[in-house]
Amino acid sequence: MASFTLHGIPVSRGIAIGRAHLLAPAALDVKHYLIPQEQVEAEVQRLQKAIATVHKELQTIWNDLPKDSPAELGAFIDVHALILSDPMIAEVPLDIIRTRFYNAEWALLTQIDELSAQFDEIEDAYLRERKSDIQQVGERVLKVLTGSANALPAGDGSEGAGRMIVVAHDISPADMLRFKDRAFGGFVTDLGGQNSHTAIVARSLDIPAVVGMYNASMLIRQDDWVIIDGDAGVVIVDPTPAVLEQYRERQARLLRERKKLGKLKKMPAVTKDGTEITLLANIELPEDCTAAMEAGAMGVGLFRSEYLFMGRAGFVNKLPSEDEQFESYRQAVAAMKGRPVTIRTLDIGADKPLDMAEQTSLNPALGLRAIRFCLAEPQMFLAQLRAILRASAYGPVKLLIPMLAHAFEIDQSLAMIEQAKAQLRDAGKKFDPLIPIGAMIEIPAAALTLPMFVKKMDFLSIGTNDLIQYTLAIDRADHEVAHLYNPLHPAVLYLLASTISIATKAGIPVAVCGEMAGDMKLTRLLLGMGLREFSMHPTQLLAVKHEILNSDLNEITPSVKKILRSFDPMAIAEAVNQLNQAGAV
Ligand code: PEP
Ligand code: MG
Repeated sequence: MASFTLHGIPVSRGIAIGRAHLLAPAALDVKHYLIPQEQVEAEVQRLQKAIATVHKELQTIWNDLPKDSPAELGAFIDVHALILSDPMIAEVPLDIIRTRFYNAEWALLTQIDELSAQFDEIEDAYLRERKSDIQQVGERVLKVLTGSANALPAGDGSEGAGRMIVVAHDISPADMLRFKDRAFGGFVTDLGGQNSHTAIVARSLDIPAVVGMYNASMLIRQDDWVIIDGDAGVVIVDPTPAVLEQYRERQARLLRERKKLGKLKKMPAVTKDGTEITLLANIELPEDCTAAMEAGAMGVGLFRSEYLFMGRAGFVNKLPSEDEQFESYRQAVAAMKGRPVTIRTLDIGADKPLDMAEQTSLNPALGLRAIRFCLAEPQMFLAQLRAILRASAYGPVKLLIPMLAHAFEIDQSLAMIEQAKAQLRDAGKKFDPLIPIGAMIEIPAAALTLPMFVKKMDFLSIGTNDLIQYTLAIDRADHEVAHLYNPLHPAVLYLLASTISIATKAGIPVAVCGEMAGDMKLTRLLLGMGLREFSMHPTQLLAVKHEILNSDLNEITPSVKKILRSFDPMAIAEAVNQLNQAGAV
């Protein structure tokens, strides 16, 4: 096939070269074939066996539900078990095998499609939604029949796996996390935006990735040779030998540059004029602390605790118990060896649903997300708060609350933390009574009413990913509006600068933990705004440190003041470019 090039949104830098591995949902992978009459009963039994296996799976999930899990979870499993036993699923597909000689997968899918079409006709929105339950049950059976259609190849760190390029229509953040222990060369997806959580996880894996490619998963075939240029957002399929050679050279050069940066690991992050800067790590799982320590992070500035809750093995809706969470938090605290660990309470919702299929909110980014969800689920929230507090007995822990906007949310959160403390005291369990409590500033309303936060919080952390999303009213995960996602929009810069300035004047520590903090092209801009704490993926830390070591605040600060007075996006972009070039090494 002739070589061709696709353009998308660059989300994780670097060059990857390898063969395409296409990930498809189980339903897309289904083989269609007719079976000979003498094998009909064997095929019927194969389907019956798969249905029985799923019954057992559901039973195991039910039995393993923690005692404190919400009642809806049990009910949810019951509904799936009922659907599975219904003759529409348990018998009709068997008849299709017997009468039409379809293979088991095809027969099941035919019936699921038929039922889905009937549900589409239903007027009642609630009932119409039940279609997804049927489809999920169908997916489960299909996965058993096909032997897990979406299984990842054994990415065991061997050279072969390292060169594999994953191509998919979409990858959920939870699935992306499963790639952590597998060595893949890169990722390409049809959907997604610059700072969708899938993109963020790709970046934390330090693997070149391009998202928002519209139809790459249709155009790229299994085993095609693929080059990902993660800087330009370009994917080249079946490259010519000359292009391949050119990219191999670029790849080697990047590797050499990265090796050079390795020398900065032990060096403190101090600007030329002698100002100390704190560089912290963003992590998803306690195991990420190893990378954080290796990169020389001074602590964890953001532990996205929701990743402990998402994509749970076997059944996504099973929440981790208080003890299980405590173990994870304590593990992170121990791994950081006395350096502070900032644990953010559950930020579930938007593009990080507990269960993809459960998403019912019309507009999830504006829905029951993060602290809103936690305040609506007080028992679950209290369990998490107790787990975090208990971990604080083992080393410095800070507690960070996402998505606060209202005074009553601050007050309720603080009251619940006190309640969790009282529960632990009653139970005779240890914790740090002076644990610092902080707020994420990531909703424009919060940035615009900062004195309300400064008065009640011990520290602040600016979540630029959401601050940009909500200020510019664009869904950060939607590739169709990705071109509008601009960290340099004057409105964003205004909110950032004023938050840093007001917090600093009030003597409250303020960090940035959104993706802007790890983008070395924005380091000087943030320094000039007065930022002294940056939290980012460990993989970005040395490049940012390199920028800091070459920056002089006496020169930068006046230039940034000028940038902040501008409302011309082109002029801002140009001025930031110049800022980065001044005295560059
Ligand atoms: C942010 O919004 O900038 C942030 C750090 O949180 P998350 O990306 O997890 O929403
Ligand atoms: Mg956020």
